[in-house]
Amino acid sequence: MRIYEDTYQHKGMRKQLVETLKEKGITNQEVLTAINNIPRHYFLDSAFDKIAYEDRAFPIGEAQTISQPYTVAFQTQLLEIKRNEKVLEIGSGSLYQTTVLLELGAKVYTIERQKKLYEKHKNYHFKNKYLNIKFFYGDGFEGLPTYGPFDKVLITAAAPFIPPKLIDQMRPGGMMVLPVDEGESQRMLRITKLPDGSLHEESFHNFSFVPMLTGKN
Ligand code: SAH
Repeated sequence: MRIYEDTYQHKGMRKQLVETLKEKGITNQEVLTAINNIPRHYFLDSAFDKIAYEDRAFPIGEAQTISQPYTVAFQTQLLEIKRNEKVLEIGSGSLYQTTVLLELGAKVYTIERQKKLYEKHKNYHFKNKYLNIKFFYGDGFEGLPTYGPFDKVLITAAAPFIPPKLIDQMRPGGMMVLPVDEGESQRMLRITKLPDGSLHEESFHNFSFVPMLTGKN
């Protein structure tokens, strides 16, 4: 059995990572504190122990990756999470991004389409610490109509388009952050649903994500 330990070295590397994220333009102090508090190496294979705090994506199996910390911080900052908000997350992967949202006090509904990843992470390491997580195996394009509406929606895979059912499941005033495909890379978008139901779109710089795929696997 794996023994999880958050050593001085890990904490030191994590502080360094937070400095790097600040230098790269992350300004939200709560997001930086969340990243400083969460042992990212717990979400990776023990082989990555010494490099877990490099600002890089790493493989998590099934040809998927844990997002780069900068990407996690950027998406989370854009979402402007407030305590107790209901957040729908598409692409649970390692549950690292999920944990950042939980640390900020969100109630997180997260969906993963890869059965093997779902099974691997179902026994969530922090299940006694964060009680506001609901983890689903399913197709994120469908969302979770029976649990909505959501205050915020986060997609952590490259969406081919803005999924219409997820827009439907957002409350008026809610926001969605997602990377939308432009071929080689993806444009980060933030969509705000205005009180009259119309959409306001903001566009940020480009990122690189694994694809958002339809159906389950
Ligand atoms: N947020 C994750 C990053 C995972 S990478 C983390 O912090 O580790 C993107 C994930 O999206 C992959 O696990 C992939 O299987 C999943 N995914 C892709 N298309 C999906 C869909 N339609 N519904 C749900 N999950 C999807």
